[in-house]
Amino acid sequence: MLVTFYGVRGSIAAPGPRTIKYGGNTSCVHVRLNDGNNIIFDAGTGIRELGIRMVQNDEPLLLLLSHGHWDHIQGYPFFAPIYQPDREIRICQSIDSNEVSLKAILEQMDGSTFPVRSEDLPSKITTVDQVDEYIDAQSFQTTRMPLNHPGGGDAYRIEEDGVSIAYITDNELDPLAAPQTTYAEWVHFCKGVDLLIHDAQYTEKDLPAKHGWGHSLISQVRQLAVDAQVKNLAMYHHDPERTDSELDEIAIESAKFFKSRNSVIGSYIASEGLVFELTSRKDSRVTTIDLYEISR
Ligand SMILES: [Zn+2]
Ligand SMILES: [Zn+2]
Repeated sequence: MLVTFYGVRGSIAAPGPRTIKYGGNTSCVHVRLNDGNNIIFDAGTGIRELGIRMVQNDEPLLLLLSHGHWDHIQGYPFFAPIYQPDREIRICQSIDSNEVSLKAILEQMDGSTFPVRSEDLPSKITTVDQVDEYIDAQSFQTTRMPLNHPGGGDAYRIEEDGVSIAYITDNELDPLAAPQTTYAEWVHFCKGVDLLIHDAQYTEKDLPAKHGWGHSLISQVRQLAVDAQVKNLAMYHHDPERTDSELDEIAIESAKFFKSRNSVIGSYIASEGLVFELTSRKDSRVTTIDLYEISR
């Protein structure tokens, strides 16, 4: 399983000299399965660059949405495969937000806020209504869990050939209101995954002002990684205000934290181009690629 990050920012794209190292595009992660299937988690602005690569093959595309907030759908009108005649693309809404995410992603292309209308696209876009049945019929295993986030949404755990990942973004591990999913349930959901991708938008300085906004403290996410005994952690959905140098400091602080717990968890700050090549043997690799070499 190959996991590549195309957009790692939360809330709004934040390009510029202070975010050049980790990247300014919003949420998008590409998972290429061993059987040739492609799962795309979220369609933030990072999906544009992924689309440039995807038009070079005709492999099946499945877009899984965590929820319908702007930073998870805004790249979709610029995703090149939707303009390819007869290209097959399936989109699953998040169940927990009651079809809102699906409406949001399609209806942003209404001829008013974007010049091309969804119904005029030449590709074969299928929206999946019976998500559970559809997902259950695939070659890979998927489990979902409701997010603790305003408006709701879904987290996903995917398993194939003995490798598992969890994609949990826009999730508050310790929300103000009663949680949709408790901390103990998150620990169970992520247990032993090869890669945990989790929202890590806030530092202690951001609270209490942003408590209840639906995002987690970096320190809570690190603790979850330890409690769930994951193999690798990618801290994700960075605040748009978080600079490269601040993220560098968080990387150092995280390494110290895991060392103090005698933990061997691989700790990473998600960045555009970060790649996890995961296998069930002991030869998983983490590399960084230049995403923009193709489009330059
Ligand atoms: Zn978000
Ligand atoms: Zn959100």
